[in-house]
Amino acid sequence: MERPLTDHEMEVLRRLTAVDKPEAPAVRASLNYLVVDDECDCGCDSFGMRDTRFPQQDHHLQSWVDARSADGVTTLGLLLGSDGRLKYLDIYTPNQGHLPTAEDLEILP
Ligand SMILES: [Zn+2]
Repeated sequence: MERPLTDHEMEVLRRLTAVDKPEAPAVRASLNYLVVDDECDCGCDSFGMRDTRFPQQDHHLQSWVDARSADGVTTLGLLLGSDGRLKYLDIYTPNQGHLPTAEDLEILP
């Protein structure tokens, strides 16, 4: 059920975690230890992840960084779990579709 991240997923995470926030250094340090542990069953590219160095976090999610594709069509959010580590990348409705390319993402305030 767990799998490595694709290059595309990792590029998007690198883009989204290149932000100036207090948690960002620790979150970036997790990137090399992530596996995908959940995939949305609706067919979109949303996915859950965990840092294999730590125990599973519970399902309490907190919004951390939101972004939008340059064409404005796709918005997504990077969510942390209860312990403040990466937990879920959610592609939001109404265009619950595919992951934009990393270069195409603008971080929302
Ligand atoms: Zn979905």
